[in-house]
Amino acid sequence: MTIQWFPGHMAKARRQIEERLKVIDVVVELVDARVPASSRNPMIDEIVGAKPHLLLLNKADLADPRATAAWIDWFAARGVSALPIDAQSGKGVERIAARCRELARPVLERRAQKGMAVRAVRVMILGIPNVGKSTLINRLAGRAAARVGDRPAVTKAQQWVRVGRELELLDTPGILWPKFDDPEVGLKLAATGAIKDEILPLYDVALFAVGYLMAHYPERLRERYKLADWPIDPGAMLERIGRARGLLVSGGVIDVDKAAEVFLRDLRAGRLGPLTFDWPPEEAEERNDSP
Ligand code: GDP
Repeated sequence: MTIQWFPGHMAKARRQIEERLKVIDVVVELVDARVPASSRNPMIDEIVGAKPHLLLLNKADLADPRATAAWIDWFAARGVSALPIDAQSGKGVERIAARCRELARPVLERRAQKGMAVRAVRVMILGIPNVGKSTLINRLAGRAAARVGDRPAVTKAQQWVRVGRELELLDTPGILWPKFDDPEVGLKLAATGAIKDEILPLYDVALFAVGYLMAHYPERLRERYKLADWPIDPGAMLERIGRARGLLVSGGVIDVDKAAEVFLRDLRAGRLGPLTFDWPPEEAEERNDSP
């Protein structure tokens, strides 16, 4: 991501999204399934207001399926319609249109009662950078991304693309800022690659992530780095990974910064298996995570 968020930018982004929301029937919010809580914008509910709202847990291919299922139930219990998807491969994407129509039904029925013409359900995608908004738009629009002319689109730069027969999608997503106030959220976003590596020290991010895996997915580390014994702490684990990969600086000293880089690359590419850093509050308690 290249955006640096400042209060002025956030206010402007919010204003632009609220302006566009006026012509939208259903808001589709995209989050990263590995961090469904941390990758939500802190003001999303306030910004979306009473609009019908569909939550998509994207990159489900990289997330722990048990956590994803627990999140879907957790959101459903709170009246939030949520679906797991993988925008890159397209898995689950085919369910989006039907869910949007379902969510828009009350609005469309009201329109019909007022004698207004039947029209497609208008949808906009929202989310923080890097959660897969563009990938999803391309996937939904498909190759025959028919531009739909003659609709209120707020600015010239925006167009509607038709998705199937009953959906129209704004081709520019709404980009929102991530949470900044909680350092652990920052570490989780960095670990999954949602925020730029220049923002937080790579070594700290790797230390956090390797500590999380030691606590919750130890077998993944054991397998990936062929560990015969168990290092006592995250620092020692990174050293061990460095040694396993032959990352040495002169004098046989292990290059721990390089080890941090290698580990994070493996993690983000899914080479440590599908895993999730945010669990629903009740489950997190059982797992002894911080809430
Ligand atoms: P945006 O900033 O929200 O528009 O995010 P992009 O669509 O540019 O996606 C960010 C990165 O995530 C890209 O490298 C995508 O290839 C990748 N990505 C998007 N969706 C998925 C998915 O479902 N699974 C995986 N593994 N990667 C994805």
